[in-house]
Order: sequence, then structure tokens, then C-alpha cells
Amino acid sequence: MNDPIKHVAITGGTHGNELTGVHLVRHWQSQPAEVRRSSFSTELHLTNPRAIKKVRRYIDQDLNRQFSIQDLKNPELKSYEQQQAKSLDALLGPKENPRVDFIIDMHTTTANMGMTLVFNSSDPLVIGMAFYIKQKMPHATLFYEPVDRLGHNFLTSIGRIGGFLIEVGPIAQGLLNYQVYSDTQKAVLYALDYLEKRNTGQPLDLPKEMAGYQFIEKIPLPENSEGEITAMVHPNLQDKDYHEIKPGDPLFITLAGDTIVYDGETSVYGAFINEAAYYDQHIGLSFMKSIKINLENSGSENYG
Ligand SMILES: [Zn+2]
Repeated sequence: MNDPIKHVAITGGTHGNELTGVHLVRHWQSQPAEVRRSSFSTELHLTNPRAIKKVRRYIDQDLNRQFSIQDLKNPELKSYEQQQAKSLDALLGPKENPRVDFIIDMHTTTANMGMTLVFNSSDPLVIGMAFYIKQKMPHATLFYEPVDRLGHNFLTSIGRIGGFLIEVGPIAQGLLNYQVYSDTQKAVLYALDYLEKRNTGQPLDLPKEMAGYQFIEKIPLPENSEGEITAMVHPNLQDKDYHEIKPGDPLFITLAGDTIVYDGETSVYGAFINEAAYYDQHIGLSFMKSIKINLENSGSENYG
């Protein structure tokens, strides 16, 4: 069992064009009672102010890839987001011995992923939170990508127990949409309720296991020898996040209209399908596998 949670940070605007989290932080800054709980402190932070002001994902680099322990300790890294990551590490961390126990980072996606809870830890506290939110909001999808906390480059990795990304879509970059806003708001409030119940020893009544998806790999868009994109997501796959992709199913369609199929040997599931933010890296989608996530046997992976 972990120590009680004493300090929670809710963060928005890590990507400056994902307005839901930006405006939820502003809302809660004006209505702090909504996120106040008796057994821990809640703090609110807009994490990438210059990108928020410009309504851009980032100024120099993706902020949510700058938090590995090696990069935080590297004095040569001086871009805006690299410096911002170091400031946030000083404010919330430091990563090796963090002040803040848990970070809830709010994101949106242009992909049709509904309300997705992305968690990188197999710690029972984190898995239990995902289960609790899914119990309350059954349309939520559990997206599990276990990663070693110290090596991980996400903002949430500077929390003592890591944290949690709430990733809601589809929504265009730079937009607000009330359904997305209110789903994100509810999920964060349930996360706080869960921590409060856990801290104060109230019964949680969680299932032993729940269905979810585990990240396998990112799949690049086809390119020519000059590194230009030569194909796009196939219309049969568009908006089909978390649907099964069987061997031989269409993945991409070339500029000339030719279909490129999935040539793997086992079925996978798609996520972040045609995510606008991944065009800079020519990523078409992520492959996931369908899994059962177990609460009792969790905590075995190295997430120190
Ligand atoms: Zn984001």
C-alpha cells in the first residue's frame, strides 16, 4: 500500500492548442471549491504558457516528451519547452524525490477515441483510479502503456506515483466542445473523489479486472525516398479507434487511390488514428492489443 496522497496537481495546456484543459484549469482557478478535497491539497497549473498564448501545440518541441531524468539533468537542453520542463520539475518534482504525489494532465485528440484514460503505471493506486472512473463513466476506454517512471518523458512521470492523462476526442485543435469539456471535468472530479475515498478508508468496491488496451507501437504513414507522405489513413479505418484490425484489412490509401493493407499475422486495434498532432512525425496511428487489466496482480512492473 502506498502512503496517503497529500498533493495532487491538475495540469492543462501542456499542448497549447488543446483548449479543454486550459479552460478547465481557468474554471477551477475561479471555482477552487470544486476540486478541493479534505484529505489532500489540489493545485492547478497551466504548463506551457507561451504555446497556450499562441494556440500551438508547442513553441520549440513537444513539452510532453521532455521529462526523462537524463533530459531534465542535461544543462545543454535550453529550448523553451526544455526549460519549461525543468521549471515544472522544480515546481512539482524533483523527479527523483517529488513533492507532488500525483499529476492529472488533461489532453484532447483529433482521433475518435472518446474518453480515454492513459496510464503508464501498474501501481494499484493508478489502476484502481482508472477502474473507478470507468465504473462511473462506462464509455471510458482504458489505455495502458507501462513505462519506467524515471526514464519516461511525460509530464505525469514527475509525480511520486506518476499520474494519468485524460485524452478526449474527437475534437479539432484550438476548439472547445462542451461534451468533451464536461466529460474531462467529470473524469477529473471522479479521480479526486477516488483519492479522497482511498485516503479516508472509504469502501471503493472495485472490480478485480477490467478490459482495456495496451499500446504496442506507432505505425508510420508511408513515405517516398524524399520523406514526403505518399498515403493517408484509409476511409474504412478513419474514426475506427479501438475497432479490430485483422490481417489484410485496409490501413492506408495512396495519393493515387491504391489501398495498403495490414500485413501482420494477428489482429490488432487502432488508436490515435489520423491524429493531427502526429503529422509532424508522419505517424498514421498506434497499434494496441486488447487486454484484461488486473487490479490484484498489478504493481509488478518496474515503475519506481
Ligand atoms: Zn495533448
